Amino acid sequence: MSMTTESIGSIPRSAKLQHALSLYDQGQLSEAEMELFYDEAVKDTIMNLEAVGSPVLSDGEQRKTHSFATYGVEGDKNMAADGLCIPFHDGHVRQLPRLTRGPFRFARFAYEAIPLARQYTQKPFKQAIISASALSLFYPEQGIADYPREQFVADLLAEQEKEIRGCFAQGASKVQLDFTEGRLSVKLDPSGQILRSFIDINNMLLDRFSPEERQKIGIHTCAGSDHDSTHSADVDYAELLPSLFEIKAGCFYIALACEKDPERVLKIIQQYRKPDQVIFVGVIDVINPEIETAQIVCDRVLQAARYIPHPYLATTDDCGFSPFCDDTSTSREAAFAKIAARIEGTALAARQLGIA
Ligand SMILES: [Zn+2]
Repeated sequence: MSMTTESIGSIPRSAKLQHALSLYDQGQLSEAEMELFYDEAVKDTIMNLEAVGSPVLSDGEQRKTHSFATYGVEGDKNMAADGLCIPFHDGHVRQLPRLTRGPFRFARFAYEAIPLARQYTQKPFKQAIISASALSLFYPEQGIADYPREQFVADLLAEQEKEIRGCFAQGASKVQLDFTEGRLSVKLDPSGQILRSFIDINNMLLDRFSPEERQKIGIHTCAGSDHDSTHSADVDYAELLPSLFEIKAGCFYIALACEKDPERVLKIIQQYRKPDQVIFVGVIDVINPEIETAQIVCDRVLQAARYIPHPYLATTDDCGFSPFCDDTSTSREAAFAKIAARIEGTALAARQLGIA
């Protein structure tokens, strides 16, 4: 297929894996025992992604213990549970951890999971990691004695650089930075100052990479997706996208299928996208339980193709299917069926566009 298509990352965890994780959290399962459950979940995820014809694989974030944002610091003695709260539209709240003292270090790197997954596949492999800007929210607003924010940011960037280089060294063909807080920041601060600071910190990280490396680094934006609810869908993309395209990444993964007026968003993308930026448009609505047909996906791709030229148009899902490990609002079966529709519908569109 000549039009690229990739997942965002997370696949719902099975009931078996979730049960094992809760036993592990209660100290009733050893690390070695837990490892067997993770391994089985990764193997099953990769088998299913291959079965639906995924050209680029991932481990479905089965090993990202509790969430897409916290996996790197869980169990770290320098972290407390009472960090920043993220309110969702349906009233539920997710809370980030809070750094209590320096230095900031990852307890585990995402790249460590890559060889454990790649033993099951020969296909190109993508690794999603949390963005530097989201990690920056772990530092408390009131500061930490003897560990100024500047030192924290320097440590954070060093850890993130090591993470990305580690992903490439382990054979990842693509690294995606999850930037869900971008759209949320405009809701929290309509002046755009927080968004500006987020973009700056992500660019400080990307500046450490060559233009060739940056082409293999992507950034994902969405309105959040948890228990079939969002945190910032009411923020107008017009407030985010012009700034988003200032990020020095090569690929942009943009939730679009759930938008009320995708045509308007595509016009904004067309206006602000830089010439070498590849746009992965979301053609699968992960919040909507209805499974898209290949024809619906094809229509969405053809619509996007009127605004984004080949070869800079690619497709993705709007978001991960379960960024938090206990989100069971979508079944694994539904997620794989939606991914199958994305792959089939993208191929159908590519043929109609004459690029297959
Ligand atoms: Zn997302």
